[in-house]
Amino acid sequence: MNYRIRPLLLGEAEVPNVLDVFWSLSTDRGRSNVPILGFLIEGAPEGPIVVDCGMRDPKRAIEIHRLGPHSCAPEQALPAQLALHGVQPSDVKTLILTHLHYDHCGNCAQLPNARIIVQRSELMAAAAPMGPAALPIGGKSLFYDRADVAELVDPLWDRLDLIEGDCEPFPGIACVLYDNSHTPGHQCVYVETEKGTAAIVGDIARKVDLNIHQAIPPGIYYDLEKMRRALADIARRADIVLPTHDWDTLVHGKIG
Ligand SMILES: [Zn+2]
Repeated sequence: MNYRIRPLLLGEAEVPNVLDVFWSLSTDRGRSNVPILGFLIEGAPEGPIVVDCGMRDPKRAIEIHRLGPHSCAPEQALPAQLALHGVQPSDVKTLILTHLHYDHCGNCAQLPNARIIVQRSELMAAAAPMGPAALPIGGKSLFYDRADVAELVDPLWDRLDLIEGDCEPFPGIACVLYDNSHTPGHQCVYVETEKGTAAIVGDIARKVDLNIHQAIPPGIYYDLEKMRRALADIARRADIVLPTHDWDTLVHGKIG
């Protein structure tokens, strides 16, 4: 099965570069403008698949998560990005969420016919985030947004497909759980393409060379040993690695 992948540019954010390196052990004190990406996967007989769907509202990123400037231009809205590929929001039959941080699951309701595949452990973590409640960055919910959780457990509940561990929702598309990596229930999506296996890795890797090739974990993780194993597993399985917040993904992620 050879699927086609199209990156969707769903917004932009200014973030510190130290997020790329574990424990922020980096001399780079700069900040960068990074993309917030989702992915359209075409070629399944059941219809288009979307992986991650961007943020609910750029203002919430600043107010709730206490981060730097975020933006979503009109042409970066999810329907506009899908339209570039001739896809209507109602055409999308499956939405896979790598994890439930605010910048990955804020627009689920915009896909009215999609079943939503997410790890059960991730929904639990998002509803009751662990960790300190008073960090100056991240807010009380540590990058989860209660509006997203409320939407999933109430209006969207009947469309939720809560999985536990690995699954293959379609032949040649595999969801693989890497628990306690970037988040408690983070999953990667491996997609068979004409260029080999493409790994949509969410935020487990931020930069392919640094995090995958040099095996230096990025800054946000729950269990360092599990994060290292996740990065090694991705390196072993994937021919192409597609992080969410790297501009290179816009180029390398267009496959087929
Ligand atoms: Zn993210």
